Amino acid sequence: MIVDIHTHLVDYDTELGQQVKDDLTRCGIPRNVWKFTQKDYLKGTEKADRAVVFGIKGRATGWHCQNERIAEFVESRKQKYVFFASVDPLDQQVLDELKYCHRELGCKGIKLGPVYQGKHPHDPVYYKIYEYCENNQLPIMIHMATTFSGGVPLEYARPVHMDQVSCDFPDLKIVLAHLGHPWIEETLAIIRKQKNVFADLSALYYRPWQFYNAMILAVEYGCGGKILFGSDFPATTTESSINGLRSVNKVVEGTALPKVPMKMIEEIIHRDSLSLLGIKL
Ligand SMILES: [Zn+2]
Repeated sequence: MIVDIHTHLVDYDTELGQQVKDDLTRCGIPRNVWKFTQKDYLKGTEKADRAVVFGIKGRATGWHCQNERIAEFVESRKQKYVFFASVDPLDQQVLDELKYCHRELGCKGIKLGPVYQGKHPHDPVYYKIYEYCENNQLPIMIHMATTFSGGVPLEYARPVHMDQVSCDFPDLKIVLAHLGHPWIEETLAIIRKQKNVFADLSALYYRPWQFYNAMILAVEYGCGGKILFGSDFPATTTESSINGLRSVNKVVEGTALPKVPMKMIEEIIHRDSLSLLGIKL
């Protein structure tokens, strides 16, 4: 079984603010990448047996996803898709929204991104969210990595802050997105030492030197078992991510540098991430 733990469903016209569009252009990312239809999304994730799907709510940087829209998409496709809700700590009613998404919309986890949301991950509002999630066995997927969205301190994206959170909420399942790049060593140290912290490797394979080094470090630290497969659609598709993972050693072909064992790569591709996160379907 292949679980794609990290996919986005957004409506370009109504859910992405001007700032997101300007930031994409400024960083040389074609805006069209984020301009996709539901059909494109279904095709981009077709190689997954299961896919976790969410948007981003972060008014600080122009992200305005509608949880209802994603819940509705998942409703008729529950045999494959798993809904995570995104809540914005700048929203006065954030805890009500969290409860609504959990109790009414039936989300199975929460997507957060302090570097999109303009709050430090140790802010009291986040702590209330962590507390609710821990009490209700809701895993969190949190973007602790750099991004193209500007205007919020990169400090808020440092994976090490979630080490403290895991000490304070030891039963909370946490996924650090994108292996915390560029702080990959920091991320591997955390997932190795904290039982309930994992990381996904979405949207990394297309930086082949960084990705190769990340996988070698995971081998050396012996923490490949805590790495989850994901694509970050629309940044990449499930299929291209699988192919990218299997090509990890290409960048060192013909050299004496160590090779990433294919056994670890296949284990990551076929990992039952939903069970690891305690998600019951
Ligand atoms: Zn993402």
